[in-house]
Amino acid sequence: MTADVPDGAPPRTPGSPAQEPDRMHAISPETKATVDEVLDYARRRAVWEDIPLDKPLTPRDLSRLAAGSITAAGIGARRATSLFENVLAPACVTTDHPGYLSFIPSAPTKAAIAFDLVVSASSIYGGSWMEGSGAVFAENEVLHWLAAEFGLPAGAGGVFMQGGTIGNLSALVTARDAARRRNREAGRPDPARWAVVCSAEAHSSITSAAAVMDVDVVAAPPGDDGRLHGGAVARALDENAEAVFAVVATGGTTNFGIVDDIASIAAETKAREVWLHIDGAYGLAAMLVPRMRPAFAGVELADSLIVDPHKWLFAPFDACALIYRDPAGAKLAHTQKAEYLDTLTETADWNPSDLGIQLTRRARGLPLWFSLATHGTDLYRAAIDHGITLAQQIADEITARAGLSLVRDPQLSVVVFRREGWTPADYQRWSDGLLEDQVAFVVPSSHRGETVLRFAIISPLTTYDRLVDILDTLA
Ligand SMILES: *Cc1c(COP(=O)(O)O)cnc(C)c1O
Repeated sequence: MTADVPDGAPPRTPGSPAQEPDRMHAISPETKATVDEVLDYARRRAVWEDIPLDKPLTPRDLSRLAAGSITAAGIGARRATSLFENVLAPACVTTDHPGYLSFIPSAPTKAAIAFDLVVSASSIYGGSWMEGSGAVFAENEVLHWLAAEFGLPAGAGGVFMQGGTIGNLSALVTARDAARRRNREAGRPDPARWAVVCSAEAHSSITSAAAVMDVDVVAAPPGDDGRLHGGAVARALDENAEAVFAVVATGGTTNFGIVDDIASIAAETKAREVWLHIDGAYGLAAMLVPRMRPAFAGVELADSLIVDPHKWLFAPFDACALIYRDPAGAKLAHTQKAEYLDTLTETADWNPSDLGIQLTRRARGLPLWFSLATHGTDLYRAAIDHGITLAQQIADEITARAGLSLVRDPQLSVVVFRREGWTPADYQRWSDGLLEDQVAFVVPSSHRGETVLRFAIISPLTTYDRLVDILDTLA
């Protein structure tokens, strides 16, 4: 035993250097310097004007440039920060760049980005009221505001989940649980297979949720307008009467921004007492713009819905607002029972972990709460309106240009168009060049087998001029 080990302490592993176990946690000049180092970088990044778009590197390049950071003694905060800033971060595409127009971009407000750091610094457990009441209260303020905007009744409530995929899955699990309970109460047997009805154009996460739940997907055909209507849903319900536990309507498809005919779908689900879920991960935010509200008629009849703040509500990754018309059913479906949790689950407290598939939970709604509280809801409506208006303007420009044509008129902030005469390889070369030149990130998409281009507009910093410059490169 060496001289510096007090009597009774376990002997150190031979050969390991002397380490004080509290060195990483104690408040010391060293830990303060580490916090400063990281916050300085976070500040530079958060307020960086003209931030580069950046681009992926190959595994080989990253191995050469960045391997070997995990060592027994540590490389220190300065070197680790520098490695991230100079090598790793530039190998990540900047999703909030105004030229990032693929998939669904992100565009967190500066207030939301900054507050995300506070959430990290505060070590809040967001799963239970007992531990996180202040945070849960603030999140609920946001959820109740959203629920009212969507026309849901006063008792509606929910939880911020990781993303739309998990939000959809959690809602569908609640819906199936409700159907099982109804069968039990009526003395009816459950069907051999459960099924969920959605549009053939629904997001892939519905299929994924169905696979996890081991239920069937009945894909109802959308009309010529791309929207799912009540008639198609009625036929799907009649053909699968006992099996269907939920219908999913999409409030803004990811590919085109198409909003299903929710009112006519809701009429069919209400008539048959089938659960109606609205997948509004991307598009439901548009309901905050008053002139868009008629397109979403029927949302107020939903049993559950989701909208992703990390998409069009300007929050950082990752957050999905999952809202139930009556959260009591979600609690029955999702509350985890365990002896060590009894003190939490045997109260009437509002515990967010009871409403979806999760237990431990980051208070991931707080960045949106802070930004909304800071700026007020009017600015949010204006920022969302920007995307809708800009999509219409650039669609008009595309229509006016020889060689370009719209695949369909934009309904929300997604514009899909083609460059006449180009092969898939032409599109890919053009897209690669645009990223290589750090102009924009526009990956080719496809529609019914045809390669097409797609602008998804989220950021209020994306301008008409920037989009016109991109169109110019298609000449
Ligand atoms: C993005 C999206 C999802 C999935 O959400 P994630 O947050 O990526 O898991 C589901 N549905 C629609 C309509 C979407 O646009």
